[in-house]
Amino acid sequence: SGEEAAAKAAAHLADQDPPTIFDKIVAKQIPATIIYEDDQALAFRDISPQAPVHFLVIPKNRSGLTRLSKATEEHKALLGHLLFVAQKVAMAENLGEGFRVTINDGPNGCQSVYHLHLHVMGGRQLTWPPG
Ligand code: C5P
Repeated sequence: SGEEAAAKAAAHLADQDPPTIFDKIVAKQIPATIIYEDDQALAFRDISPQAPVHFLVIPKNRSGLTRLSKATEEHKALLGHLLFVAQKVAMAENLGEGFRVTINDGPNGCQSVYHLHLHVMGGRQLTWPPG
């Protein structure tokens, strides 16, 4: 069907996204402090923490998700899983008093690594709005 063809084309394009530094972290080719791992997701401490606790949650397989705005219907379960992992790890990190989950998308969102990632920050009183 046309829909199948479109999905195939999208998958092909996704395969051609250049690898990012996060792919190397997933492959354990460069070091990171990994604090959670399952078949779909990885959480590790941000190398430049903006709060006492600051970790990233990423899909192991980017599957086209260079950025949140590339999400399609097929990504809904994975997106839900990443959000679930974010709170699960936040609780394991003793962030019961609260925390923030941020996704930077694109140039205006200050995204620097084009492999979808959720920032989870906490461990201090955060302020609002962010810059
Ligand atoms: O949302 P954005 O793309 O700007 O965030 C990328 C994040 O990845 C930064 O907070 C940066 O400190 C982090 N990073 C990391 N380990 C690396 C490279 C980047 O934790 N090796």
